[in-house]
Amino acid sequence: MMRLPSFDVAIPRTMPELLENLRPNGLGVKIMAGGTDLLVNMKQGFHISRRLVWPGRIEELRHINTQIGGEISIGAMATLSDVAASDVVKTSYPSLSKAVLSIATPAVRNRATIGGNLCLDTRCYFYNESEFWRSSLGGCLKLNIPTHGTGDVCHSAPGNAMCSAVSSSDSAPILLALGASVEIQSAQGKRIVPLSDFYANDGMRFLNLATGELLKRIILPVSRYGLRSAHNKVRSRQSVDFPLANVGIAGVVEDGRVFTYLRIYVGAIQSAPIRVPSAEALLNGREATTVLIEKGAEEAASCVKPIQNVGGTVGYRKRMVAMLVKRTLVQLLTSARD
Ligand SMILES: Cc1cc2nc3c(=O)[nH]c(=O)nc-3n(C[C@H](O)[C@H](O)[C@H](O)COP(=O)(O)OP(=O)(O)OC[C@H]3O[C@@H](n4cnc5c(N)ncnc54)[C@H](O)[C@@H]3O)c2cc1C
Ligand code: SF4
Repeated sequence: MMRLPSFDVAIPRTMPELLENLRPNGLGVKIMAGGTDLLVNMKQGFHISRRLVWPGRIEELRHINTQIGGEISIGAMATLSDVAASDVVKTSYPSLSKAVLSIATPAVRNRATIGGNLCLDTRCYFYNESEFWRSSLGGCLKLNIPTHGTGDVCHSAPGNAMCSAVSSSDSAPILLALGASVEIQSAQGKRIVPLSDFYANDGMRFLNLATGELLKRIILPVSRYGLRSAHNKVRSRQSVDFPLANVGIAGVVEDGRVFTYLRIYVGAIQSAPIRVPSAEALLNGREATTVLIEKGAEEAASCVKPIQNVGGTVGYRKRMVAMLVKRTLVQLLTSARD
């Protein structure tokens, strides 16, 4: 049986108290939101934190509303169930509601948060295993095993100098396609950055988030007139599973057949969701025939670089990217305005 290591939990009631608790103090402080990923990872021995900070009592982190300028603001501690059920989200961006409903199960979504989903640890089948299983191979670039130390090799791609563990968030690609930003707060102040700048394509340092910083809220811009968007994923088990590939696409359809302002993001393949500008350029401004859509989908698949580190083969995941991009573009063409 895998046991959780011992730790204490701080439950601040105000933002200043929370930020004070996040200051580095030698205890390896971690934010615990819903804990649906963090606690599993702690059981498997990835994080050695002696203090978890749970911001769940801070009301301002759970809001979902429309701001005076028309942007939508979603507090990082809003649960996935709340985001999916929100009338604000369903009215302006139903594709986000649908993406969130594809995550895990109702019980997990009642606990898991949108902030935790955006900050989800990267995954790899040499990493997301029990310590007993992992110790047979020894550590890797991302993983230090107490009995074996940190490895200096990537078991998935032995020649690689960098870890390519996979960004598996199902909300990130669609939020990126919709042009979301995030507000990040620490005791030193706040900054608002495009969500695209929040991610780095590095399996070990995949978030641009410094020690002591918290993802406070997600901001969705006012929707461009006529914007349509959709999210799709493939997974091994349709009932509940992490994505083997997912896509989030947003764009305007002019005269019912010409894409403009397309933003195409592919997730669950590399360590960050990947934008594919060459596929966007191929599709934008031209009549979206079946042949053009297929070319755009193939171009997107040729831009992403999976390695053999989650389920499915490299070739299969590339085929699935082409299929998902094609399916999603067709949905955009045939759907009503999002
Ligand atoms: C059975 C099962 C199925 C799953 N299926 C999917 C799936 O299909 N798709 C998918 O995307 N995910 C899936 N997940 C993973 C996970 O449940 C979700 O991603 C969930 O949204 C994580 O949110 P959380 O609030 O529980 O995060 P936590 O586990 O609390 O935290 C995750 C990480 O984010 C950090 N963090 C959390 N909030 C913040 C914040 N506000 N600021 C800074 N850092 C923060 C934590 O320190 C931790 O490192 C699944 C999990 C399980 C158990
Ligand atoms: S991609 Fe390589 S370095 Fe990263 S977790 Fe997997 S085996 Fe380790």
